[in-house]
Amino acid sequence: MRSVRLPAVLCALAAACAGTAPRPSSTVQRDLPLAAQARAEAASFDLRYCSDDQGEIERLRAALLTAAGPLSRWGAFEQPVAIRVYPDHQSLEAAVQREGYPWLRAWAFADRIFLQSPRSWNDPSPATVAAELRELLAHELTHALMYQLLGGAPEPPLWFREGMASVTAGQGHRRPTAEELSRWIAAHPGQDLLEPAPEVYRTEKEAVYGAAHRAFELFVALAGDEGVRELLLLTRGGASFEDAFATVTGVGLARFEVDAVRARFSRAGFERRQGAGSD
Ligand SMILES: [Zn+2]
Repeated sequence: MRSVRLPAVLCALAAACAGTAPRPSSTVQRDLPLAAQARAEAASFDLRYCSDDQGEIERLRAALLTAAGPLSRWGAFEQPVAIRVYPDHQSLEAAVQREGYPWLRAWAFADRIFLQSPRSWNDPSPATVAAELRELLAHELTHALMYQLLGGAPEPPLWFREGMASVTAGQGHRRPTAEELSRWIAAHPGQDLLEPAPEVYRTEKEAVYGAAHRAFELFVALAGDEGVRELLLLTRGGASFEDAFATVTGVGLARFEVDAVRARFSRAGFERRQGAGSD
C-alpha cells in the first residue's frame, strides 16, 4: 500500500486534489455561515459559503449537477457531499492546512470538497471559468465517489486515483500527449511517473498527471468500466489493490505499470507487449 499523506495527494493545475487532511476546525465552519443545496436523482450536495459568494451559488449548483452526470459510470453516491466554498486561495490553504500551492483550487474527501470560489480564480473569461469549474468539480466528485465506493479501504495508487478523476472529468485535453510523455521519459531516465518520488510530483505535476490519465485509459481498455467497478468492490471487500487488479485485468500490477511506461503509454504499443508474454 502506498502512502498518500505526502504531497502526492495534491493535484495539478486546474486543481485536483484528494487527501487526508484533518477535518476543518470549527473556526473555519463558522466562516462559512450560509447554506444551500443542490439535489439530483443520483447525488445530493450541501453547499456552505460566505456572503461574498452569494452570487456564485447558482453557477455552482448548475456546475455540480452537470459535473455529477459522467460519474454514473462508476456507481452512485452513498451519502451527500458537502461543498465548502472558500472565498479566496488563502482561506482554502488554511482549511486544508497546506501552504505554498498557488495552483490548488480544491481538495476532496469521501463526504466533502473544499473549493476556492471561482469568483477568486482571476480568470477574465466567464466561459473559461464555467468549463474549468465543470471539469474541476467532476474531477473532485470522482475522488469523493471513489472514496465512498471504497468504504474506507486503503487508497489505490496515485495513478489510478488521479487517472480515474482526470478521465472521468474529460481532462485529457489538458494532459500531455503520449508523444510528449515519451519525450519526457527519454529526457528523465530513472524517473518513475507512475510511482513518482515526492520531488518529481512537486516539480513535474503535468507529466505525473498525464501519465496517470494515460495509464488509467490503458486500464479501462484492458478491463472496461465494469473492471473499475469490480476492482473497487473487491478492494472494499478486503482484497489488496494488487490482488483486485490482477483479478479484473488478468495482469499483475507491476507488469502493467512496466508495460505502460515501456510502451510510452501508446495503446498499440501496450497491447503488443500484452500479447507478447512476459519479459
Ligand atoms: Zn485529483
